[in-house]
Amino acid sequence: MTLEFFLNQHPRLTRSLKKFILDYEAQLDASTFAAFLMNLDEELTNNAAHFSSQATNEAKARALHQVVDKETSQDTDIPLSCQKGCSACCHMEVEVTSYEAEILKNLIQAGHPIDRERLKAQSQRSLQDPRWKQGPRNPESQCIFLKDNACSIYEHRPVMCRRHSVTSPAKNCETLDAPITLRYFPRVDLLISAANEDQNMQIGPMAKMLEMSLLK
Ligand code: SF4
Repeated sequence: MTLEFFLNQHPRLTRSLKKFILDYEAQLDASTFAAFLMNLDEELTNNAAHFSSQATNEAKARALHQVVDKETSQDTDIPLSCQKGCSACCHMEVEVTSYEAEILKNLIQAGHPIDRERLKAQSQRSLQDPRWKQGPRNPESQCIFLKDNACSIYEHRPVMCRRHSVTSPAKNCETLDAPITLRYFPRVDLLISAANEDQNMQIGPMAKMLEMSLLK
């Protein structure tokens, strides 16, 4: 299998999975790389079929969450710095799928309290808005689901929150003036890429997607 054919078959890979594949291309001989692409193709196709076989959009999102949680809960040689109560990453823009936005909308409509004004204000920010770069220094950037420094919808949080973890000191996330080392899960990238193969699913900033979903 050639790289060009593979990329045509799977046009909605995450950026980091694509980079991972290109790095492998540079390191492996041609036949080993072709075999690697064949395996990846099979894994993507099987997982995409698993997600699309779920009965509802919400079930598709939850099926992705379940497999991603299994991957990210595996032990690691390098200890993670993330702990309950450190919430700097909950002051950055988070991307969600339209199916996850449905889950969040249903929670809000069932009575989960949020600050609607803050949601509206965040939904009007662009991706490049410098306030997102200020992290926890800007309280207006706080995720509408963050309460008392913890996620109030932890069981329902989007996949981007589930995959995010760092091995650099937690204080680096707070101050934003020291380097941050993210833990990388290639298999999580594969699972997210497989879910992205659903052409009916959109991906976008949480505040925008949620505001739109609540206005429907
Ligand atoms: S959904 Fe939860 S984990 Fe994700 S950014 Fe918001 S508070 Fe943090």
